[in-house]
Amino acid sequence: MSNLSIKALTEAHVMNTYGRLPIAIVRGEGARLWDADGREYLDFFAGIAVCNLGHCHPKVTEAVCRQAATLVHVSNLYHIETQAELAKRLAANSFADRWFFCNGGAEANEAAIKLARRYWAVAQGTPRPGVVTANHSFHGRTLCTLTATGQPKYQEGFEPLVPGFTYVDYDDLDALEAALNPSVGLVLLEPVQGEGGVRVPSPDYLRGVRALCDKHNVLLALDEVQTGLGRTGRLFCHEHSGITPDIMTLAKGLGNGVPIGAMGCTEKVSAGFAPGSHACTFGGNPLSAAAGVATMDALTEPGFIETAARRGDYLHAALRELAARHPGVREVRGMGLMAGVECADAVGPLVEAMRDAGVICGPAGPNVLRFLPPLVVTEVDIDTVTAALDRCLGDLGW
Ligand SMILES: *Cc1c(COP(=O)(O)O)cnc(C)c1O
Repeated sequence: MSNLSIKALTEAHVMNTYGRLPIAIVRGEGARLWDADGREYLDFFAGIAVCNLGHCHPKVTEAVCRQAATLVHVSNLYHIETQAELAKRLAANSFADRWFFCNGGAEANEAAIKLARRYWAVAQGTPRPGVVTANHSFHGRTLCTLTATGQPKYQEGFEPLVPGFTYVDYDDLDALEAALNPSVGLVLLEPVQGEGGVRVPSPDYLRGVRALCDKHNVLLALDEVQTGLGRTGRLFCHEHSGITPDIMTLAKGLGNGVPIGAMGCTEKVSAGFAPGSHACTFGGNPLSAAAGVATMDALTEPGFIETAARRGDYLHAALRELAARHPGVREVRGMGLMAGVECADAVGPLVEAMRDAGVICGPAGPNVLRFLPPLVVTEVDIDTVTAALDRCLGDLGW
């Protein structure tokens, strides 16, 4: 089928929830994509920070094919070898001793919020149901996680929202402390805000958040759904700050494209859940967990993330150089291979011009162009993309 006929079929029967570019991507390899008409693109979005190892990474493909021919699904009524192997790898590489598996980021955050509430109400016997999150945050689209999301545009029309949530300005420790009281049991934050515009907090923000949570006896959950798994130049973004949270959520990059989410926590906090308190039919099934194991093994190969971090520095240097020459660019932000270019105008036309130039990237809010390339991009790929951006900005008169 062609791009146009796939578009027509989509528009006939698929729910009208996305603004889509008029192309259908049908094949991928590394940082390259091809559409249904055979046109090649350089992918600097990775399916929204999902295919961190590049498209169709041979080790993930091999693991998925092998597992698909062995056992696809069995339910969590039994022990699952690949799930246990994935939990072992996540525990070995993070602060979190216990892991719950689900299908994506919203479910992982939902699990984190449920765990915190039940930890206080049942394990500690003192209910502290309040949850504090940040303005401009993004935590998912289920009713509970869109309540956690501090952006009214995602909540409009879905009221009544879930009770117990309050919002504070990001990167503002005084505002956070003012919101903490004995009814609050959880602070949920992104270490860098992704959907909200690639907002990087001050270097000592997370350390301050950790100290406030300790002082007020509140659990800290970090949503690393977008920032995790090598995206910001460390396996988990909070490693840059030297602190650990009590709970962490992962999804996007965990299966390199095979849907899987995870919520991890310390042994102490895991006492909030007992058999029967939470569940997910597909969570960590043999197939998705096999993808997770292969992904973790590739990400933790010596030097892999260090190389990606250097590529991130290279990308940021090139973007800053370019920003200095284009008055329509206000600021370049980000960490590692997560970059936001804030423009004076809405970036829709820029995303389309980049697509016409053969580069896939995307927005983060109205005015921010976002790059989330696979971690395997080369300096030559980055040169190609920044040269295209230079031309597109020039053509738009920005
Ligand atoms: C994408 C994202 C989510 C939601 O993940 P889904 O898999 O779409 O449910 C949650 N938090 C952050 C930070 C994200 O970037």
